[in-house]
Order: sequence, then structure tokens, then C-alpha cells
Amino acid sequence: MAKRCYYEVLGVPRTATEAEITKAYRALAKKYHPDQNPGDDSVLEKYHEVTEAYEVLKDPEKRAIYDRYGHEGLANGGAPPTEGGVYINLDEVFGDLIDGLFGSGRRRGRGGMRRGDDIEMVLDLELLEAATGVTRTLTVRYEANCRSCGGRGTRPGTQPAVCRRCRGSGTEYVSGGFFALPQRCRGCGGAGYVITDPCPTCRGRGRGEAQETVTVTVPAGVDTRTQLTLRGHGHEGSPGAPRGDLHLIVRVKEHKTFERDGHNLICQCPISFAQAALGGPVELTTLTGEKVTLQVPRGTQTHTVLRVPGHGMPDLDNPRRKGDLLVILIVQTPTQLSPEQEQLFRRLAELEHSTPAAAPAKGWFGKLKDLITGEHSPTSEKRG
Ligand SMILES: [Zn+2]
Ligand SMILES: [Zn+2]
Repeated sequence: MAKRCYYEVLGVPRTATEAEITKAYRALAKKYHPDQNPGDDSVLEKYHEVTEAYEVLKDPEKRAIYDRYGHEGLANGGAPPTEGGVYINLDEVFGDLIDGLFGSGRRRGRGGMRRGDDIEMVLDLELLEAATGVTRTLTVRYEANCRSCGGRGTRPGTQPAVCRRCRGSGTEYVSGGFFALPQRCRGCGGAGYVITDPCPTCRGRGRGEAQETVTVTVPAGVDTRTQLTLRGHGHEGSPGAPRGDLHLIVRVKEHKTFERDGHNLICQCPISFAQAALGGPVELTTLTGEKVTLQVPRGTQTHTVLRVPGHGMPDLDNPRRKGDLLVILIVQTPTQLSPEQEQLFRRLAELEHSTPAAAPAKGWFGKLKDLITGEHSPTSEKRG
């Protein structure tokens, strides 16, 4: 015959207090006591059933086990627990309860374990490092389970005690007229147990801080907001659960010479009046330190843009594919003239009186935009 529910045996609700349970038991024990019913064996059986139910329900720890696991949770059929017998089951209870201690149960893995949270860190890089890629060694601080108590919060060798207020369920019932409304237990914060003998290392928190050195290989072509993920280098989860991930958010610093526009780099290059008018070679150093020679066309206007293919930023997905370097030529007007230069400019000015003025050229900003969108004019493009 299947065992009857202990609460049913005593005729009390599952939310009954210890006093209510004792009161119900006393009444039934009196009713079924063998001395009150001489010669009636069926009553003796009832008496044992009631007593067994009371033995379990009057003890908060046994009651907690019974609430969670029913009759099966209690080895020896509810007899007083022998050392160890009951605690085998408690281990399971605590595994579950500790999980409850650390959070809402978000991202629960196998067996109800909670994976560790992710960590986000900003990784500041120079533009050159973003262009070539770089290896960085970082110190990462993360939340870890206490090494002394394994994250349980209890002094090693001791067990937490089942919360007496909620009897291990983590839920208490608050009277709401006819109904008893469940709410998170205020005695244990919903964990279902309380630590009476806390671990001296973590003072019962079960958690501590740890740090590790992580080496990250940053690929060429990263940009501000590129995210690099290192699996398993985040916070530790509940004991035995996998660690979270480490997300590095790239932030590329501004460069004093080169400005980035997607895969292209933009820089300015000053040229003299004479170079602009007559044309000729101009030497330039790229971001990576390479020397390139630009051919300034004859009659170049200020802010003319020259394109140097393949000297921009590499593509993150295909680093061999690179953007271009766009060079804005700035014609510099001399501010200090030697007597000889002044003479020559005066001579030039005399000649200009007899030459009609040229039509205004397209603005430099328009030209730059054309270049970026690919509709550049062929006269302003020269290979470096
Ligand atoms: Zn509680
Ligand atoms: Zn500890």
C-alpha cells in the first residue's frame, strides 16, 4: 500500500505552522492511542501512521526534505535520521539552493547550474595597431567562487542549515484573507537555507575576486566598436558551471596625421605654389612608415585629392584587401618672401593682368566626396 501524504495523515495544510502540526497530532494521537482502543489492531496502525507523520513534520529539516522529495527523500521511512543517511539527499538540496543564491536562474545550464556572467572591457588601440594587428596581454579581474569553501559560503566541513522560516522551500506564505500568498522568504532571501557557520575566507558570500593574465591577438583591420570575444574568460558561475566570456570592445585612438573613413585613410599634404603650378614628385610617409612618391599634376588646385591605392586600412575579414590612402594636397601661400621671391611674384602679377582668370573649380569637399564614392575625376588620380 502506498504511503499517505503526511499532511493528509495529520489533516493539516502544507503551510501549517509547527504549532498547528503539534495540535493536530495531539488530537489524533489521543484518538488512536492503543490505551483508548483496547483490542482494535486497525487503530494501532493509524496511531503509528500519525506518529510517523508527526516525527517528520515537527522537524524543520526533515520537513524540508519531505516537502521537496516526498517519502523517497527520507531514508529509513521517516525514522530519526542516522548520521549521513539524510545528508545524501541534502547535498542535492544544497546544490539546487546554492544555485538560487546567486541569481534569478538566468541562463541555467545542465543540472540547473548557472553559467558565469560575461565581462566587457574596453581595449584602447593606436591606429597603427589597428592597421597591423597586435598582441596584447591584459590583466582581467573576475568574480570567482571562494577557493576555501568552493562557493558554498559555509566553513569547510560544515553544512548550511535549512531555513526555519520557509523550511527550505525559499517561499513563505503570507495570509491574504482566504488565501495564503507565496512570496520570497525573508529569512533566507529565497535561498532556502541559511549559513550558520560562515566560511572565514569569504565571510559566507561564497564569492571572491580573482585575476588572471590573458593574451589576446588583435587582428589587423579592427575599428572602434569591434568586439573580440574570449570564451571562458568571464566571471565564474555556480560551482561546476562554465565561466562566462570576456568581450573586448575596441576603441581606436585618433591619429595626429591620418583620419580613418571605413577602409580608407585620409591625410593632408602641403605643396608649394611652384609645385602646384608646375607639378612634380612629392614624397609621403604612410601610416605604416612606407615611403611613397606622389606625382602632383601640373596646375593642381588646393585641396585636390590624390588616391594612393592599397595604403588604407586592411579588411578585418580579408586582411590582404586594403583600402586606399586619400591625400588632400594643400597649396601653401608663402607668408615670408625673400627679396628675390618678391621680385618674381611681382613679375608674375604683371603677367597675370594680360591672362583671363580661370573659371572656379569644383570645391575640394565635393572632390573628396566624389573620390570616396568612386566618382572621382580621372585628372586628380595618380598612382603613388
Ligand atoms: Zn527561508
Ligand atoms: Zn568561502
